[in-house]
Amino acid sequence: MYGLKTDWEMVEPERHYVLEDYEGAEPRWCPGCGDHAVLSGLLRLARDEQLVPEKTVVVSGIGCSSRFPHYLKTYGFHGLHGRPLPVAAGLRSRRPDLDIFVITGDGDCCAIGTAHWIHAIRYNMNMTVLLLDNSVYGLTKKQTSPTSPLGFQSATHPGGAQLPPIDPIAVTLGIANASFVAQSVDWNPAHVMETLRAAHAHEGLSFVRILQRCPHFTPKTWSEVQGDPSLLMLLEHEDGIPLPESVAKTLPNKRRHDPADLPEAHAIASQREAIPIGLLYRNRDAVRYDLLSAKGLDVTREAKLEAIQSEVDRFLV
Ligand code: SF4
Ligand code: MG
Repeated sequence: MYGLKTDWEMVEPERHYVLEDYEGAEPRWCPGCGDHAVLSGLLRLARDEQLVPEKTVVVSGIGCSSRFPHYLKTYGFHGLHGRPLPVAAGLRSRRPDLDIFVITGDGDCCAIGTAHWIHAIRYNMNMTVLLLDNSVYGLTKKQTSPTSPLGFQSATHPGGAQLPPIDPIAVTLGIANASFVAQSVDWNPAHVMETLRAAHAHEGLSFVRILQRCPHFTPKTWSEVQGDPSLLMLLEHEDGIPLPESVAKTLPNKRRHDPADLPEAHAIASQREAIPIGLLYRNRDAVRYDLLSAKGLDVTREAKLEAIQSEVDRFLV
């Protein structure tokens, strides 16, 4: 039965997992879609960390990127629009033994799911959240999303987006109790990989925004940045996200940044000279609600029934 300690006592098979053990259905994203690169990174992370597929859950909402759970041979929950975070929080609250990944998009997270985003960051329950931000509603055919740039012409705004976009990193940094905030770009697989590794290792909610190419609807959004790596600002620090020297040297624009420095993280997020990639903020001491609320997890079915029965007995007349 779900939620009882006996559920966690699966005997883990003694075996070495290879990539194929994690590969699910054939991805149906467009050729060149950035989601492919992030999926490859997640599959490699699972293999490198030898995650037990039966103990791994990928939760998503609705959107192109939310098809992730179908493409991994782990447990998955392809849920309602904007609702992956409450699903993941529910799972985490009763199952501390699972590896939980949440895949969400800019529409899913920053529009219909905004309230869940804010509170999930504050609750800081242990999970890895990947926001694949292509600045458009792709699945529903090119509507303006909260992160679409000003002037972006879409099905809902043929004359161009009229409002300034939300910056998900700046918003997340402003939420009380944020504990891990990082940014990457899908076209730099090594950076994605190391960011995923650091996010997964963090104990608490790690929020990673990945700028994601959508060649079908927003081919121009990141083309300039792709062509000129100096438009990316690599954040470097011994307590940040390590990157192989061969990769770091391809990114000429670097800035030293201590991820413990929140005011500096805000300043980096609000400048518009270059797009920061790397670890903006980490607070290992942030309160974790999954630990605060971990009550009764080791109670057996018999003990639960006994407790219920004794409560009911109090009303006997
Ligand atoms: Fe990817 Fe865009 Fe195609 Fe969706 S529409 S699968 S985001 S390229
Ligand atoms: Mg989108």
